[in-house]
Amino acid sequence: MLDKRNFYINGKWVKPTKPNDLEVINPSTEETCAVISLGSKEDTDNAVAAAKAAFESWKDSSKDDRISLLEKLLSIYKKRYSEMADAISMEMGAPMDWSTDVQTASGQSHLEDFILRLKEFEFDKKFNSESNNRICYEPIGVCGLITPWNWPINQIALKVVPAFATGCTMIHKPSEIAPLSAMIFAEMIDEAGFPPGVFNLVNGDGVGVGTEISCHPDIDLVSFTGSTRAGRLISKNAAETIKKVCLELGGKGGNIVFADSYPNAVRDGIRNVMSNSGQSCDAPTRMLVEKSIYERAVQEAADEANLIKVDHSNKKGDHIGPVVSKTQYDKIINLIQSGIDEGATLAAGGPELPNGMNKGYFIKPTIFTDVKNDMRIAKEEIFGPVLSIIPFETEEEAIKIVNDTEYGLGNFLQTEDKEKAKRVSRKLNAGIIYVNGIGPDSGTPFGGFKQSGNGREGGVWGLEEYLEVKTVTDWQE
Ligand code: NAD
Repeated sequence: MLDKRNFYINGKWVKPTKPNDLEVINPSTEETCAVISLGSKEDTDNAVAAAKAAFESWKDSSKDDRISLLEKLLSIYKKRYSEMADAISMEMGAPMDWSTDVQTASGQSHLEDFILRLKEFEFDKKFNSESNNRICYEPIGVCGLITPWNWPINQIALKVVPAFATGCTMIHKPSEIAPLSAMIFAEMIDEAGFPPGVFNLVNGDGVGVGTEISCHPDIDLVSFTGSTRAGRLISKNAAETIKKVCLELGGKGGNIVFADSYPNAVRDGIRNVMSNSGQSCDAPTRMLVEKSIYERAVQEAADEANLIKVDHSNKKGDHIGPVVSKTQYDKIINLIQSGIDEGATLAAGGPELPNGMNKGYFIKPTIFTDVKNDMRIAKEEIFGPVLSIIPFETEEEAIKIVNDTEYGLGNFLQTEDKEKAKRVSRKLNAGIIYVNGIGPDSGTPFGGFKQSGNGREGGVWGLEEYLEVKTVTDWQE
């Protein structure tokens, strides 16, 4: 069992001010794989004080110095890549190939992309050719970064790297459920040689360190990725100190499959939901299928779900792993049961453990058909391998159903009609519209409409989150 009780504060690994152990559970085995500490107010205060002191000089560091430190961090990340993949697999249940090729790769690609954006970014520029006003971008200050367990290093890199790049200092609180990847990343930051206090890590839960960060008078910005429930609490707690709050929250994506979609659209839609065991904020968990192809789509969806294997995370190969915890397992099983009770048709999967499994938080890839958009399975973020299929007749009806949710993170649409794709994309309320299964280019922004949040991460938008903008008049060249 790994002993990961210390925090990283002011350039050193230090003991918590009060012991408060928490066991980290491997979701494939239900066994303890590590022990961490939950921090206290004193630990948070120490980290914030270190970040505040470090900001005085780090804010004036040169762009070139920050680029070379980030490049060093990138080379260390590549060197310790497999350790990162092992940690993610163990802490949150990602199968080894998925953890290596997708989860860990996301951290590397964000590092690479932010280095590129930083090189291009102008922190100080003329307002326009006729004006002598100057627009200056300045680091906002001390940042509190709170991250979830489902894409651990992806979410960490999307916050820590732009905070470094813009000259901010920070305190990071990773998810207490999956803190091991975050601690390896902190070791890499230490090895890269960032000045003490620029980056600090304190483990803790939401009620403790999470709340301390949200309320802290010396923190200027909180960037949070996680549930809409916690996002709401963070906003309330941050209100007193008027700090900037950037929220990346939950989703309930719709995937419109028109009759003229490409041949594999339904099967790809199923894989998209089931990958990461359904634990992705932008998973297209409501599949809307045009009536004329409904019967065929339902059959294909059930066949594809039945092809997906469920197995331990330490195994290589093309399978999905467990869901992250007992709490999530119970919540998902309860929602599957609600789908049955509310009268949806179970076309694949169900609430029983997959065959041959008697330990671990494993759930069968589950498909419901004939779902109504007001059923719980269509309204609530399930965050497990569960998909609802809803029939539609017209384009307008499909758009109305997809937009009829409190969320607005990612929507999908499948059609070979270019004009229809553009028309429907404009009408869907979400931060990203994935057309015909094509993913976004590196450096494009990611974030939500409505209760999916208010921030944008990635690329130049991700840098701007951490910057104040200042206008200076009469700037004489
Ligand atoms: P969660 O909200 O339970 O926890 C996320 C983080 O917030 C953890 O570090 C947790 O300790 C902390 N936290 C919890 N309550 C808090 C509080 N009151 N104050 C401060 N911090 C608090 O979410 P989770 O279960 O870890 O992650 C899954 C959720 O994250 C899903 O809803 C998913 O959609 C969302 N998510 C969103 C995005 C995005 O980019 N929009 C990306 C990944 C995950």
